[in-house]
Amino acid sequence: MTAMTSKVTAILVILVAAATLAVAQAPREQRGQGAPGSRPGAGRQPEFPVPDIREYKPESTLVVPQHSVPRARFPVIDFHGHPPQLTTVDALAGVAKAMDDLNLRSMVVNNPQLRGDELKRWLAVASGSEYKDRFIYFTSVGFGRVVSPGFGRAAAEQLEADVKAGAKGIQEIAKNVGLSVKKADGSRLAIDDPELDPLWDAAATLGIPVFIHTADPQKFWDPIDYSNERWLELALFPDRRYQDPAYPRFDTLVAERNNLFRKHPRTTFVTAHLGWHANDLARLGRLFDEMPNVYSEIGAVLYDIGRQPRFAREFFVKYQDRLLFGKDNYQPDEYPYYWRVLETSDEYFDYYRDYHAFWKLYGIALPDEALEKLYFRNALKIIPGVSRAGFPQ
Ligand SMILES: [Zn+2]
Repeated sequence: MTAMTSKVTAILVILVAAATLAVAQAPREQRGQGAPGSRPGAGRQPEFPVPDIREYKPESTLVVPQHSVPRARFPVIDFHGHPPQLTTVDALAGVAKAMDDLNLRSMVVNNPQLRGDELKRWLAVASGSEYKDRFIYFTSVGFGRVVSPGFGRAAAEQLEADVKAGAKGIQEIAKNVGLSVKKADGSRLAIDDPELDPLWDAAATLGIPVFIHTADPQKFWDPIDYSNERWLELALFPDRRYQDPAYPRFDTLVAERNNLFRKHPRTTFVTAHLGWHANDLARLGRLFDEMPNVYSEIGAVLYDIGRQPRFAREFFVKYQDRLLFGKDNYQPDEYPYYWRVLETSDEYFDYYRDYHAFWKLYGIALPDEALEKLYFRNALKIIPGVSRAGFPQ
């Protein structure tokens, strides 16, 4: 790069950054004018410096019953597990110990390395140990940046071999598939592209579930202004911003995903993160109503469940045969937040990530039958050949 080009590049970078900042900070019209008419003192200004959104952490004075739930009430299968590298017995023992403390009986292992020889290596370490019933290995599909003709057929063959070796499902297909992975002709590979049909058909024939993460929270596509409830997260993470119209829209991704589910009624699909409809559960309900082959897991959307305790409870009871427990990020000390939301009627308590939610959580106190299905029964139903040891009859 010449000095001239690097100077021009630097100026461009500054201009782009400035433009992003302007978008990210432009306040919209005033909202939330709840009271009718204007009141005396309505235009009053604070006399003290105004804190920013990360500084203002008011302590609640509310005194209500509190229940900490360090262990789940029933043994749990974490369908959306991303444990650390499990390539030694010591590593298995460490994770199993953390799981014991939480009453996590088994964890589905989602790790992109798990395919072919590497899958066999991980399986061999587990099967020679006392932890073999505690981990359920799902195979990965080797999507690169570009998918060439014949990819789907080759992936189906690899899947067959991996299931023969001991894999029990297709692990979380990452969100870049459908969003940014390309076809050889340069166009975007939609998740329902016929190229991938042999893979989904093979999963149906093998009787294994397919776990798919499609899209992201809807607000990641909207303007980053002060009305966006994910403003802080979008300000913190550049790779979560989809404002650029070059990205397919949220509704496009969802429509393609649903079309995939519809096209393959014999294949069992698990859509990750409540299908990113946790903020609109009725929409997920319509998906469940239309397609009996679709399930969903609750990883990383606890903030949405816990802000609608009555409607969420109704939903989790109504669709108790379609929901699975999943956590996503491996942080043992975060699981008890899930137990507390799912099992108690506690009110107005903190979530564990301030950039996801600017609100408090409430418990949805699920009845035992729905809780057991969420925690382990539905996973046992859709994952073939999982040991029943350690679960209630
Ligand atoms: Zn994940």
